[in-house]
Amino acid sequence: MIDTHCHLNDQEAFPNPDQAIREAVDAGVRNLIVVGIDEEWSRIAVELADEHPEVYAVVGWHPTSAAKYDPHKLKAIEELAAHPKAVAIGEIGYDFYWDYSTPKQQYDCLIDHLDLANALNMPVVFHCREAYSALLDVLESRPIQPYLFHCFAGTEDDLNRAMELHSIFGVDGPVTYNKADELRRLLPKIGLNRLVLETDAPWLSPVPFRGKPNHPKYLGYIRDRVAEVFEVAPNTVAQATTQVAQDFFRI
Ligand SMILES: [Zn+2]
Repeated sequence: MIDTHCHLNDQEAFPNPDQAIREAVDAGVRNLIVVGIDEEWSRIAVELADEHPEVYAVVGWHPTSAAKYDPHKLKAIEELAAHPKAVAIGEIGYDFYWDYSTPKQQYDCLIDHLDLANALNMPVVFHCREAYSALLDVLESRPIQPYLFHCFAGTEDDLNRAMELHSIFGVDGPVTYNKADELRRLLPKIGLNRLVLETDAPWLSPVPFRGKPNHPKYLGYIRDRVAEVFEVAPNTVAQATTQVAQDFFRI
């Protein structure tokens, strides 16, 4: 399995990332993709990738960090993206749930990063919360790039629009929650050939760890619930999602 989205760069949650990586490997996670939310976390992600053969990095500014972003700061992201184990630009996008940054700040940050990804020919990892139609409006007006909607939580209409852009989708802990019937209904419409597994650790812990810190080693709980939804063996999910992740991140 590949944990395609985790935050071992959160030094408060993961004071000892080596141990978290070791435990994940022991639990069947062969690669971990550590995702940046600003320059500092992107730098730590690249450092972890540099030190650990299992780890890859995604670099960029999260929409809730966009108030602190300005165009001069893109240069540092571009330099980090040049590292051979930096595999995508992200997590970028829109978040209209929190108001740490204005929609305009989020838009400017998003467009700079999309242009950078385009120039560098790199895939893009999106964070999107309560903003799918706004984000899709932007993407539909641009040339199509390889897109991953991390922790997809949109409607069926959002999904159809994102599928038209040939996107792939990340599934996390919420798939194990009782109330997630709508997400579980949409998963077969996505299909195993467009799905990747992710923990988003230290957030979004799957059942039975809900309310406690999440770890990449819990990825199997998400795989197992996805396998139930598709009525296939867990290993079928592991193989399919690993292949999708390898193709998308080119690892
Ligand atoms: Zn994240």
